[in-house]
Amino acid sequence: MVRADWVSVGIHKGLVGQLDEFAEKYGEKYGLRNRQQILDLLAREFLRSPEKFLRPETKRGEHYILPNRESPKDSLDLHIFDTHIVCNVCNSENCKHVDTAYENKHVRKDLTKYKINLPTK
Ligand SMILES: [Zn+2]
Repeated sequence: MVRADWVSVGIHKGLVGQLDEFAEKYGEKYGLRNRQQILDLLAREFLRSPEKFLRPETKRGEHYILPNRESPKDSLDLHIFDTHIVCNVCNSENCKHVDTAYENKHVRKDLTKYKINLPTK
């Protein structure tokens, strides 16, 4: 069924997978039964107070994306700053994706190619 007042947006599979997991685990508790309801809530909260979601340094960081089709949850979506890295999948500075940026030689080679320097740990 096509709903005339609705549009589709693209979002990374890995992130959608995490939303689905959340809805499955906590949907009943929080009244968020699917990804649509979670994204709808986030969009409304963001528009109500965007400063809660934004960090001033977000605009300066190098954005690095490396999709992984075989395992979408292992895709990288990072903002790399002079002093730290923020993972946009986990919204964290300390996760397996950040570790991959430091440890995976292919990723490091890719970063070098794009002249992106990692902060020292
Ligand atoms: Zn992560």
